[in-house]
Amino acid sequence: MNENVVILGAGLAGLGCARALPGARIFEAESEPGGMARSHTHDGKTYFDRGCHICHSKDPAWLDLLRVNDSSVAATSRSRVVNYWHGHWITYPVQNHLLELSPENRIRALADFVSAQIVHRGRIPANYLEWCRFHYGEYLTRNFYEEYTRKYWRTPMEELATDWLSGRLLPSQIEKVIAGAIAEQPEDQPAFASFYYPSSGGYFSLFAPLYEDIRVVCGARAEELDPKKKKVTFSNGRQEDYEYIASSVPLPELVQMIKEAPADVRRAADALKHLRLLCVDMVIARDNLTPNHWFYIYDNDVEASRISFPGNLAPGSVPAGHTALQAEIFRRTDEAVAPAELAEQTMHRLARLLKYKPDDVVALHVREVPMTYVISDYARAPAVKAVHDWLRGLDILPMGMYGEWKFLWSDAAFRSGERVAQSIAGGKA
Ligand SMILES: Cc1cc2nc3c(=O)[nH]c(=O)nc-3n(C[C@H](O)[C@H](O)[C@H](O)COP(=O)(O)OP(=O)(O)OC[C@H]3O[C@@H](n4cnc5c(N)ncnc54)[C@H](O)[C@@H]3O)c2cc1C
Repeated sequence: MNENVVILGAGLAGLGCARALPGARIFEAESEPGGMARSHTHDGKTYFDRGCHICHSKDPAWLDLLRVNDSSVAATSRSRVVNYWHGHWITYPVQNHLLELSPENRIRALADFVSAQIVHRGRIPANYLEWCRFHYGEYLTRNFYEEYTRKYWRTPMEELATDWLSGRLLPSQIEKVIAGAIAEQPEDQPAFASFYYPSSGGYFSLFAPLYEDIRVVCGARAEELDPKKKKVTFSNGRQEDYEYIASSVPLPELVQMIKEAPADVRRAADALKHLRLLCVDMVIARDNLTPNHWFYIYDNDVEASRISFPGNLAPGSVPAGHTALQAEIFRRTDEAVAPAELAEQTMHRLARLLKYKPDDVVALHVREVPMTYVISDYARAPAVKAVHDWLRGLDILPMGMYGEWKFLWSDAAFRSGERVAQSIAGGKA
């Protein structure tokens, strides 16, 4: 059953597809399955993820599948997330907590915010810069969103589209913003206000049991696809015949694998941009460094954009008397990186912010993740369409975050694989 299907990639999309197509063959380039949802450890005790990952899904069937009510999963009912901005700690998101700014900045932020609601009312933003200006006003856009975008997306705001914002940024709510400028407000708004995280083993422990029934061939990177002969060739020389390919291989790499790809499709694939990530993993011989689950750093003299604390996500997962933290540093693919230097610099800069001594750091590792967020610029949507339209005629079905080439939360990546499986099973591929 389903032996005619080859699945490329055993991340969550590959998992969703394989579970829905028993008997399909699944191949994974890395030595272990899991993709972006994989966790890693340097000492066998403390686990880190590929950038901060939590389960904040609202999909009951997905939560059931992950058994989030088991004792092996920690449930957090109220996330603690803050911003670090030029020496100030401000509750996330800043527009709901203007009271935490100095009186002078609060007045400017509030005045600009209210004026934006009047001046831009009903206007459709042309890009991310306009979206922020229309929703949050000039002061917050310039001082927070633009500063952070430069560091995180590494792309000018006016070059970014708005199709990636849903579920990430909240449209402004005037009553809430004014209330937060007058008095301290509890924060229960963001999409990730409550979440689940495994008690041990990192984020991947949520999914590890789901891989038990699936025989993934690891260390098998697909390198060449011949859609006429319906043959895929792997890095170790192995070849497999197929009728359908379900692929979570990043679109640019997939197009490169197909020799007969026409020039316009190659050009479209080349236009797709993404970020890479350096994870600086640290263990510090100090406890209670912060009560927060994670925080964002706006200042450009610190390279890291987001700092998360695995021991706060899952209490008890870090040795007593210690704090584990992961700093995330993003880079475009055309930027040079010096991982060891960045790790060292990050360790010293964070010592200032979190008030530990560099000598307290008992472990410092840096891990490079070559592909993380796709950049939603204006080239993305038409380029993805051009590649997808061409693939449709070849019985190659893209799925997951890098097959769809758009940000997907974990549940959506899994469902994307399931959808591809359904269209193959239903003969609609
Ligand atoms: C920094 C970051 C933070 C995130 N945080 C969260 C979060 O908090 N909560 C949440 O729900 N989601 C989060 N996500 C999203 C989540 O990680 C993804 O939705 C999910 O892991 C994507 O799964 P995938 O299978 O689509 O892609 P991947 O995980 O990338 O899987 C694709 C697989 O294909 C393999 N592969 C690639 N090329 C080949 C080839 N040529 N041959 C064979 N195999 C190949 C890769 O090795 C990989 O294992 C985050 C994502 C990022 C980038």
